[in-house]
Amino acid sequence: MKLQFSSVSPRVACTPEEWNDWRWQFRMSLKSEEDFGRYFSLAPEEVQGFHSQKNIFRAQTTPYYASLADQKNPFDPIRLILMPRVEETQSLHQEMLDPLGERKPENHPRERLIHRYSDRVLFLLTDLCSVYCRYCTRKHFTANDHAFVRNNDYLQALDYIRTHSGIREVILSGGDPLTISDSHLERVLSDLRTIEHVEIIRIHTRMPVVAPMRISEDLCRIIKKHKPVYLITHFNHPREVTVESAMAVEKLVDHGVPVLNQMVLLNGVNNHAAIVQALSRRLLYVRVKPYYMFQCDPSLGSDHLRTSIEESLRIQRELWGHVSGLAMPTYIVDIPEGGGKAALTPNFLTGHQGSVHRFKGWDGVEAEYHSPSDTRPPMDLESYQDEWNELKNSKASL
Ligand SMILES: *Cc1c(COP(=O)(O)O)cnc(C)c1O
Ligand code: SF4
Repeated sequence: MKLQFSSVSPRVACTPEEWNDWRWQFRMSLKSEEDFGRYFSLAPEEVQGFHSQKNIFRAQTTPYYASLADQKNPFDPIRLILMPRVEETQSLHQEMLDPLGERKPENHPRERLIHRYSDRVLFLLTDLCSVYCRYCTRKHFTANDHAFVRNNDYLQALDYIRTHSGIREVILSGGDPLTISDSHLERVLSDLRTIEHVEIIRIHTRMPVVAPMRISEDLCRIIKKHKPVYLITHFNHPREVTVESAMAVEKLVDHGVPVLNQMVLLNGVNNHAAIVQALSRRLLYVRVKPYYMFQCDPSLGSDHLRTSIEESLRIQRELWGHVSGLAMPTYIVDIPEGGGKAALTPNFLTGHQGSVHRFKGWDGVEAEYHSPSDTRPPMDLESYQDEWNELKNSKASL
């Protein structure tokens, strides 16, 4: 499979060493209308986006990520992800600052922690990202100048995790947790590893996509040392899978770090089965497992980037059966106001009568499944029952 190198921008004068230094990418980020205007020929809708976007969501991109976008065409998919547009000020359909109800007290037990599901918490380490994706679902937090978590909040969050033994998984999120330094990250990982019931640590980051030079050997060694750590990244479009980002994720996988991908279905960006399959195949080839394909949340200013649920279901159905199960992400609608994730799969069941279920498969084959009449629980169930009860009760005992 052939992947393209990013095209180093001729308008940013720099050495290859600078280009390949993530801190340089961060420092040289495009932030203002002038910065963007130097590289892109801005359309009037984009200029207006800059004039009105201050109230909604800051604009920022690394030069690397900007170099993947078309300089002239405002409807280029990557450009739509990174560029503010006037439509952001037009909230027509249900748009909310906190679509997932993350700020509700019952889901937000401590500063920086979101505890919605029994066995896992989100730990928002920083609100900073290298790129502010225009559809971001966490605009109530992201890009609000909180930076790295304050020491007191940090200790309280750790304490909460330590005293809730049902928490098996800590998801480092943000913002982008890999915008913090290696030494900060090392501290967080080793602090979490002092808590015995934390089995899995996850890092949710867009860095392999927007600043792949962040994924250094040193960083991989730090992550490896605190295994099992899973890294969940966020590619939305096949053109984001460049040689640089492929090398970044392969470096992680070579260090034994499993990498999975979450994508968001976006209007004019990736809302076609051909694009989703191209992305999934490229990811699978570089050993990234497509994990979730999200319906875009009704976050403030995201209307122009959202697709309809009907369209998403159509895309999923078209892919089903044609694309390897390994490459097939699970389609998720995050129920607004904190209802939690709902996975939708094509319905192949055409009806049932008693214990006989009728199906029509992905390519039209029709057949029945006859269920047996009796089942019994496994004889060793008892030895697993306590663990299960503890898990189910962990959210109730907050
Ligand atoms: C999505 C999400 C998770 C992670 O869910 P998975 O299905 O395990 O990927 C955890 N906590 C919150 C609040 C979430 O929104
Ligand atoms: S990287 Fe994630 S948190 Fe940051 S702006 Fe994009 S979607 Fe939001």
